[in-house]
Amino acid sequence: MIKIDDWVIEKGEKAQGKIKITGYGIAMPATVICGVKDGPTILITAGIHSAEYVGIQAAMELAKEFQPEELKGNVIIVPLVNVSGFEHRTMSLVYEDGKNLNRVFPGDPEGTAADRIAYAIVTKLFSIADYYIDLHSGDGFEQLHPYVYYVGVVDEKTAEKSLHMARHIGVKYVVRSTTATGGAYNYASSLGIPSILIERGGHSYWTWEEVEQDKRDVRHLVFHLQGKACHGLKHYRQMLLENVVYEYAPYTGCWYPSKKPGEYFFKGEELGELRDYYGNLLYTSIATENGVVLYQTASLNIIEDGPMIAYAAITETLT
Ligand SMILES: [Zn+2]
Ligand SMILES: [Zn+2]
Repeated sequence: MIKIDDWVIEKGEKAQGKIKITGYGIAMPATVICGVKDGPTILITAGIHSAEYVGIQAAMELAKEFQPEELKGNVIIVPLVNVSGFEHRTMSLVYEDGKNLNRVFPGDPEGTAADRIAYAIVTKLFSIADYYIDLHSGDGFEQLHPYVYYVGVVDEKTAEKSLHMARHIGVKYVVRSTTATGGAYNYASSLGIPSILIERGGHSYWTWEEVEQDKRDVRHLVFHLQGKACHGLKHYRQMLLENVVYEYAPYTGCWYPSKKPGEYFFKGEELGELRDYYGNLLYTSIATENGVVLYQTASLNIIEDGPMIAYAAITETLT
C-alpha cells in the first residue's frame, strides 16, 4: 500500500494521480504501481530539468508499462517534476522563479516555487522511497556522453548500494559524486536512500533509441532491486570517474569546443576557446588532469558564470 497525502493505492493496484505542492498552483503528474507481492518502493523521477526529454519520455512510457503482476514491491513514477519549465520551455529552470531545481534540495516550504517543489518531493516521496532513480540529460544547450552518477560521500552502505545500482546501467562511465546536498538524488543519498542519476541525451534532442535504453536500464534495475537474482542480469563493464571538473565560463561570448563528449584527453590539452564578437580570443580552457569529457556547451553562445564544460578523471575499471 502507498499513501501520498490522502491518495491511497492498495496492494495490486495501479493508479494515476497528482502530487500537490503546498503554496504552488501546479501539481506533479504521478503513476503509482503497487505490486501484487510485498517488497521495496522504488521512486523514479524525470523532468527535474524540463528540457531533458529522453528521461521524461522514458518515464511516461514506463508508467504505462509497469503492471502490479510483475512487481514485488511498489514503483512511483513522476515523469515531469518541473511542469512549468516544460510548458514555458525555460530550459532547465523553474518558470516562476528562474531557479535550478536540482540545486535547492531539500527545499523550503516557505520559499519560492522551486523550493516548494523540492520540499514536496522530500516530504511526500523520499519519506516512503527505499531506492531512487532520477533521469536526466544534457540541458537544452549541452551535448553529453551517457553516464551514471552515484554519491560516494554518504554512509558506506548507501554508497555501496548506490554503486551497485549504477553497475546495472548500460553506460560506460560511472561518476562518483562528492556532493550530498542540493540535488535530488544527492540529498536522497544523504538520507540513506540508495540513489543514482542517469544521464542520457541532450541538446533539446531525444530519440526513440535513447528512450529504449533508459527504459531497459530502469526495468532491469527495478526487477533486480525487487528480488530478481543479480546473475540473471548484467553488471556492465564500466569505468569509474572521479574528481569531476565543472568549468564555468569566465566571459559571455562565443564558445568553440575542441573535444567531443566521451573523448579522452591528457592534462594540458586545449578543451575549447572563448571568443568575443570580433573573433578575438578571450580565454582558452586547458585540461587540469587526464580525463574524459562528460558534457559541454554545444550552443555558440556562452554566458558568464554559466556551464561551459564538465570532465572527469578515470580512476578505476569496474568489472
Ligand atoms: Zn539534468
Ligand atoms: Zn547486481
